[in-house]
Amino acid sequence: MKCISCHKNLLSEDDFTKFSCPSCGGEEILRCANCRVKGVLYQCTKCDFEGP
Ligand SMILES: [Zn+2]
Ligand SMILES: [Zn+2]
Repeated sequence: MKCISCHKNLLSEDDFTKFSCPSCGGEEILRCANCRVKGVLYQCTKCDFEGP
Protein backbone atom coordinates (compact mmCIF):
# COMPACT_ATOMS: atom_id res chain seq x y z
CA MET A 1 0.00 0.00 0.00
CA LYS A 2 2.31 2.72 -1.24
CA CYS A 3 1.83 5.72 -3.47
CA ILE A 4 3.37 4.79 -6.81
CA SER A 5 4.80 8.27 -7.28
CA CYS A 6 6.19 9.32 -3.90
CA HIS A 7 6.19 5.90 -2.17
CA LYS A 8 4.43 7.30 0.84
CA ASN A 9 2.69 4.71 2.94
CA LEU A 10 -1.02 4.98 2.20
CA LEU A 11 -2.27 3.09 5.22
CA SER A 12 -2.32 6.33 7.15
CA GLU A 13 -3.92 8.24 4.27
CA ASP A 14 -7.68 8.45 4.06
CA ASP A 15 -7.67 10.05 0.63
CA PHE A 16 -6.00 8.20 -2.22
CA THR A 17 -6.88 6.91 -5.66
CA LYS A 18 -6.77 3.33 -6.81
CA PHE A 19 -7.15 2.32 -10.42
CA SER A 20 -5.89 -0.22 -12.91
CA CYS A 21 -3.13 0.68 -15.31
CA PRO A 22 -4.80 2.20 -18.39
CA SER A 23 -2.30 0.49 -20.63
CA CYS A 24 -2.03 -3.13 -19.47
CA GLY A 25 -4.90 -3.13 -16.98
CA GLY A 26 -3.01 -5.66 -14.95
CA GLU A 27 -1.36 -3.47 -12.39
CA GLU A 28 -3.03 -1.60 -9.60
CA ILE A 29 -1.95 2.00 -9.42
CA LEU A 30 -2.16 3.67 -6.03
CA ARG A 31 -1.73 7.39 -5.70
CA CYS A 32 -1.98 9.71 -2.75
CA ALA A 33 -4.15 12.84 -3.00
CA ASN A 34 -1.08 15.03 -3.02
CA CYS A 35 0.42 13.40 -6.13
CA ARG A 36 -2.95 13.40 -7.86
CA VAL A 37 -3.43 17.13 -7.31
CA LYS A 38 0.10 17.87 -8.46
CA GLY A 39 -0.25 15.56 -11.46
CA VAL A 40 2.94 13.75 -10.62
CA LEU A 41 3.87 11.14 -13.22
CA TYR A 42 3.52 7.50 -12.34
CA GLN A 43 5.01 4.49 -14.03
CA CYS A 44 3.39 1.08 -14.20
CA THR A 45 5.72 -1.52 -12.76
CA LYS A 46 4.51 -4.12 -15.26
CA CYS A 47 4.42 -2.40 -18.65
CA ASP A 48 6.38 0.79 -17.89
CA PHE A 49 3.45 2.92 -19.03
CA GLU A 50 3.84 6.49 -17.81
CA GLY A 51 0.90 8.73 -17.08
CA PRO A 52 -0.02 11.88 -15.22
ZN1 LIG B 1 2.18 10.35 -3.52
ZN1 LIG C 1 0.68 -1.34 -17.05
